[in-house]
Amino acid sequence: MSKAQETVLEIDLKALEHNFEYLKSKLQKDTKFLAVVKAFAYGSDANEIANYLQDLGVDYFAVAYINEGVALRNAGITKPILVLHPLAVNFKTLIEYCLEPSIYNAKILQEFISVASHEKQVEYPIHIKFNTGLNRLGFWHNDIDFIQNTLSQTKTIKVESIFSHLAASEDLNEKAFTLNQIKTFKIITEKLTKAIGYKPLLHICNTSGILNYPEAHLNMVRSGIGLYGFGNSEKENKNLKPIASLKTIISQIHTIEKGESVGYNRAYIGDSIQKTATLPIGHADGIGRIYGNEKGFVTINGQQAPIIGNVCMDMIMVNITNIDCEEGDEVIIFDANSTAETLAETANTISYELITSISQRVKRIFL
Ligand code: PLP
Repeated sequence: MSKAQETVLEIDLKALEHNFEYLKSKLQKDTKFLAVVKAFAYGSDANEIANYLQDLGVDYFAVAYINEGVALRNAGITKPILVLHPLAVNFKTLIEYCLEPSIYNAKILQEFISVASHEKQVEYPIHIKFNTGLNRLGFWHNDIDFIQNTLSQTKTIKVESIFSHLAASEDLNEKAFTLNQIKTFKIITEKLTKAIGYKPLLHICNTSGILNYPEAHLNMVRSGIGLYGFGNSEKENKNLKPIASLKTIISQIHTIEKGESVGYNRAYIGDSIQKTATLPIGHADGIGRIYGNEKGFVTINGQQAPIIGNVCMDMIMVNITNIDCEEGDEVIIFDANSTAETLAETANTISYELITSISQRVKRIFL
């Protein structure tokens, strides 16, 4: 592995393969695996990741929006793609690119049937989403009769799956709540599958659901964060490998006198003679201002250097007073050892937010 000479996000495809195989090893042989590759595959690179996973034999993909699905089709993805949050204005495009909508309320169901029948579709695959406690998107339990009535009057669409989303599967203090979501989902699916007369795919588990609720794997699971290397518990983090490493270099080193300030608004004032390093990465690259003022840190030659002062658009400054380093040296923002999860925690946020924030300006390198 060569040393970084600029700001790069290295993506380790072998680590991705390891995570995929690890998560699959938790499933029954015939349980399908859906890879969630929305938001540029959690900030990495959806096209590359999806193609790699497609070659490894993943069964399904999911994205949030229709334009993300279009990009995947244009990049050669032929496996089914579930669009989790499709908006009616783009339904014609969704059909043109053979993307499969999540249908979460009466309005969107009727709008989709209208567009699909106008496009002369027969048995177009849709995914019915139920709300079982997240209270975000989804039909309610008492919508089953309406759904069944609507389906019985049209040949335009076919239920490919029924699904729901867990609200707190990573939090074992919320086990009773999660088990209740699973139970509610089972009641709903029994009723609806009876009403429509066939059994579509059923799925409710995200990564933590896969790891914590094996009884709820049903016949498909949906994993995002686990594929990218985080398992939401210390134990599972050991079994998974973070696929992304964000690296940069030292552009310039300064020595400041006691009382001198660093950066905008003079937010940092040195309390002694200090050495600082300026790095070519800032909030426009995804390192938000929240990491400034000694909340976040980077790693240089194995030692932690706190981010001092305000984060700039294109730069951060770090304190290297006690670190042996020089201009041009590599800097680790996060990697498999000093993880995105640890850095995210310094700012009271989660790995999901940090990794999906790495902007498209940062060069991606695939190992
Ligand atoms: N399913 C749905 C509906 C989601 O919104 C997400 C992610 O937000 C996932 C699955 C994947 O969750 P995770 O990344 O925790 O595996």
